[in-house]
Amino acid sequence: MLDPQKQALIKEVERLKPELLEISRFLHANPELAFEEHKAAERLSRTMEKHGFSVERSVAGLPTAFTASRDSAEGPTIAFLAEYDALPGLGHACGHNLIAAGSVGAALALKAALGEVGGRVLVVGCPAEEKGGGKIPLVESGVFRSVDAAMLVHPSNRTEIVKRALGMRDVQVEFFGKASHAAATPHLGRNALDAVILAFTNINALRQQIRPDARVHGIITHGGKAPNIIPDHAAALFYVRALDMAYLEELYQKVLGCFEAAAMATGCRYQVKRAGSDYHPHKINYALAELFRKNLEALGAQVDQGPEDQDLGSTDVGNVSQVVPTVQPMIAICGPSVACHMPEFAVASASRAGEEGMLLAATAMALSGLDLLRDRDALRRVKQEFAGGTRP
Ligand SMILES: [Zn+2]
Ligand SMILES: [Zn+2]
Repeated sequence: MLDPQKQALIKEVERLKPELLEISRFLHANPELAFEEHKAAERLSRTMEKHGFSVERSVAGLPTAFTASRDSAEGPTIAFLAEYDALPGLGHACGHNLIAAGSVGAALALKAALGEVGGRVLVVGCPAEEKGGGKIPLVESGVFRSVDAAMLVHPSNRTEIVKRALGMRDVQVEFFGKASHAAATPHLGRNALDAVILAFTNINALRQQIRPDARVHGIITHGGKAPNIIPDHAAALFYVRALDMAYLEELYQKVLGCFEAAAMATGCRYQVKRAGSDYHPHKINYALAELFRKNLEALGAQVDQGPEDQDLGSTDVGNVSQVVPTVQPMIAICGPSVACHMPEFAVASASRAGEEGMLLAATAMALSGLDLLRDRDALRRVKQEFAGGTRP
């Protein structure tokens, strides 16, 4: 049986339900791509203002980032992260509409307890999780400096508390050769497309010798203009990923070696460019994860924790987790044959199961926030683990 303060929070989320569903449905019906989430950011900001939060728009120079803060007496700051970008051609196939509504719901519910426990509730509106890493400038601008713990829940096909994330670096490579007639005078040309193809072949050879947690994968973004012209310019974009940044750096240097070898073999010149900043791995905080698990199970949810280092992607939540204790549990909204970034996941993100998952996420996060605000020992354990890097 949950204590009266927790019961009150559960009731509060129930009371907020119509408003949270409206938010989730509005975002789902108006999918916006990374850094273009103007409708979403405005809708969420206005909601927070309506509920008495002080809102700052365009945080860290990002027009679609915001913070919404509400405090009472002295106390810790608990941040709920809202993501709201969609995917090109797929809409909300990553369910970020549910993430945003869940985090807003947790913050609004926890606000109701602030008078009794003291502290600060913060919503950080984080644009561009899918591309560009909006949380990276937010971290760099110091938004999380005063935060004691951060959380968000991602919809998934399995309810899991701890999931690692791979560090990730993008690299664009361009090769420059010499155009010539591909049939009449190929010997006068230098083939930049062959350089790109060799870069892929070299990386494929490298792949067998890399750690199982690491990934290198890419696409050709420019492959020439016409078959009868030796391509004088060709380009590719790669992602290099690993569970730790030291290995990522080592692997990145090897990938550069693959480009260099391709350039030498073809007589081309090459140039690399970085489009974004590194996504960092998720620094797991088991104390915080455990706190969340207990609350989720107290609400009747079944946790189906799989291996924490399998089937991993990358997220800029990792960058947040490096500066403040952070948990990003997954809550199942569909069966195992559907996964995020599939069109079917966009359907699940507007389904009844999706909405129930979102409300469960909001409630479990609010309860976990309450634990951290009123139980200084719990918060101390979380912070000690973060500082020492050791599991309690
Ligand atoms: Zn995604
Ligand atoms: Zn996502």
